[in-house]
Amino acid sequence: MAVDLEPQLLEVLACPCPQHARLRPGLGDDPQADYLTCTSCGRAFPVRDGIPVLLLEEAVGGPGASGEG
Ligand SMILES: [Zn+2]
Repeated sequence: MAVDLEPQLLEVLACPCPQHARLRPGLGDDPQADYLTCTSCGRAFPVRDGIPVLLLEEAVGGPGASGEG
């Protein structure tokens, strides 16, 4: 199921990373995933019951996710 957020909500949401970058719907190469992905650091945040969980400890991917960092 795709993330179904109000466009206005996406406008105001920001990643909790230092860049506070914008988020885009989807996860990596799967735009239908229930995630929001940071356009800067690449972390993906789960969307649960329509509510984005913008917590770094809940994020997947991003810096060091490959085990190199
Ligand atoms: Zn970020």
